[in-house]
Amino acid sequence: MRYNNEPSALRKIAMSIAAGLAAIAFFALIFTSSYFFLPPKSPDNTESAPTKNTLAGSGLTVNHGHAELTVLVNGDKLDFSKPEYQNKSIRIHLEDNDGSTLHIHDRSTRIEVFFESVGMSLDNNCLQIQDGTSYCSNFDNQIIFSVNGMANAGFQYYIPANGDTIVVSYGKIEHH
Ligand SMILES: [Zn+2]
Repeated sequence: MRYNNEPSALRKIAMSIAAGLAAIAFFALIFTSSYFFLPPKSPDNTESAPTKNTLAGSGLTVNHGHAELTVLVNGDKLDFSKPEYQNKSIRIHLEDNDGSTLHIHDRSTRIEVFFESVGMSLDNNCLQIQDGTSYCSNFDNQIIFSVNGMANAGFQYYIPANGDTIVVSYGKIEHH
C-alpha cells in the first residue's frame, strides 16, 4: 500500500504545480489584456493652463519630480522652450523657457498628459506635433520611445519618474 501511495502523492504535487502554472498564465493574460484595452485618453479635459503664480500659491512646487524630455523628428529636436509649450498643465509641464526639464507635480501622471496639454499626441504608432503633422511608423520609419537609454513599450502610458531621461524619436530605420 505504501508503494501505491507514493505515486498518488507525487500526482497531487504535480497537479498543484499545474494549477499554479495555470493561475499564473491566467493572471498574465489578464495583465496583458488590460494593457491593450486601456482607455485611449485619460479624463483630463477639465484642466486649464495654470500660471506660475497658481503653482507657487498652491504649494504644489514642493516635493515634485523632474525628468528630461527630448523629441526628435528625423534628427531635429523640437524646441520646447517656445511659449506654446510652457506651463500648460499643472500636473506635468515645462517652465522658465526651459525646453527639456519636465516638472512633475502629479507623480501618477502619464506622459500623454504633457503631450495633450501642448497640442501633441503620441502612441506606439504615430507622433503628432503641434502643427497637426503626424509622423507614423511605416516600412522605412519608426517611432522609438526610450527611457534612460532603453527602449520602453510604455509610450503615452509611461509615468515619468524623477530623474528619468526620456527620448521620443521618429526617423529612418536600417534594413538588413
Ligand atoms: Zn520643478
